[in-house]
Amino acid sequence: MNVADSQRVGSSLEHLGYSFTDKAEEADVIVLNTCVVRQSAEDKALGRLSSLLPLKRQNPSLVINLMGCLVGVRGAEKLRAKLPFVDVFSPPSDPGPLISFLTQGEIRSLEDAETTRRFLMMDEELILPQAEQGKLISAHVPIVYGCSHACTFCIIPYKRGVERSRPVGDIVAEVRSLAKQGVKEITLLGQIVDRYGKDVPDGPNLAGLLRVIHEVEGIERIRFLTSHPNYFSDDLIQTVAELPRVMPHIELPIQAGDDEVLRNMKRGYTQQDYRELVAKIRERIPDCSVATDIIVGFPGETEEQFMQTHRVLSDLKLDVAHLARYSTREGTVATRRMVDNVSEEEKMRRFRMLEDLQEQIIAEINARYLGQTVEVLFEEKVKGRWKGRTPTNKLVFVESEEDLKSKTLPVNITWTGPWSMQANLVKQPVLISV
Ligand code: SF4
Repeated sequence: MNVADSQRVGSSLEHLGYSFTDKAEEADVIVLNTCVVRQSAEDKALGRLSSLLPLKRQNPSLVINLMGCLVGVRGAEKLRAKLPFVDVFSPPSDPGPLISFLTQGEIRSLEDAETTRRFLMMDEELILPQAEQGKLISAHVPIVYGCSHACTFCIIPYKRGVERSRPVGDIVAEVRSLAKQGVKEITLLGQIVDRYGKDVPDGPNLAGLLRVIHEVEGIERIRFLTSHPNYFSDDLIQTVAELPRVMPHIELPIQAGDDEVLRNMKRGYTQQDYRELVAKIRERIPDCSVATDIIVGFPGETEEQFMQTHRVLSDLKLDVAHLARYSTREGTVATRRMVDNVSEEEKMRRFRMLEDLQEQIIAEINARYLGQTVEVLFEEKVKGRWKGRTPTNKLVFVESEEDLKSKTLPVNITWTGPWSMQANLVKQPVLISV
């Protein structure tokens, strides 16, 4: 989501005549887009911000914009007092405050300000920053902002506000515009992406939106994340199964494999519900890959409860497990009402156990690809090898002197490991016209 938000800010600034530099000392405007999903991310953002202070002292006209979850949606009064050298505070997904600040002298009326702001934000027609035009193969498109769930460990609803689905027309216009700029793969984003449209009477749901986007010329692959098990409907499974350009890869966090822990997290499903959903997805979408998120060491998690999570992962053999150790976040229900009573050493031990298990699982899953022919969309050359992804989102490297960028080609898998695979291009028959 932050990558997508940053592209919007970059694009808006280019419309104002700015150009991109990756050297902070050269910049007239510095935008620091922040994530606070974990305390370590927040600490890192604040550390980076402090490192900009000497630049501001040297050049008082430098504009520093703090954006994203560190600012949140509830006003930045406390931050303003704490960080007086920051000129502009912007909530997540909103370049508006920065644009208003940079254009303030040039605008005569409130109406002008709103028109300028809308124009510059280019909400319906995202123009990529110049550095990415014609080069970006895969782009992220937010379709639902915020989250109205209240998982007890999570800070996101307090920072990104209530759930708001974007109008279908805006999303489709943006996807069309990205396709014209050379983008081949679109990932639709939402904190709970499968709740898309639930706040809009008469609008399409995610399945309906996928069907519309599937018709956009030039887009070869469509993905979406992150799904919540409670909203992953039969209709959505059927749609993914039917539409060839919607990739068979689902991001479906379980967070824990024990029902009491899941209740304490307020996730709203049981481990059995999750198992049944994965079974249904695999039955209807053959070869679908499923990724999950898991938190270990949630307050009160016993050894037996952790082992339940271990069992679920071991039984389901999912393709990816994003693992995290629980950490307290000020403002969350878990921090206010529960005791963080699993020691850091124990959290680390549980984390490592799942990490080892997952490494074995992925190695086994990936080994099944050996000798198979799969389609890979190539993105870029890294250290002499072309990097791309299979429909199931597996990373593949190919050695080739040809320019493979943005091409989707069949490859033969020659080596597999847990984190990537190697392959050769399948020789295409050459058609000679006589
Ligand atoms: S669904 Fe839960 S974990 Fe995901 S963003 Fe919303 S509150 Fe956070």
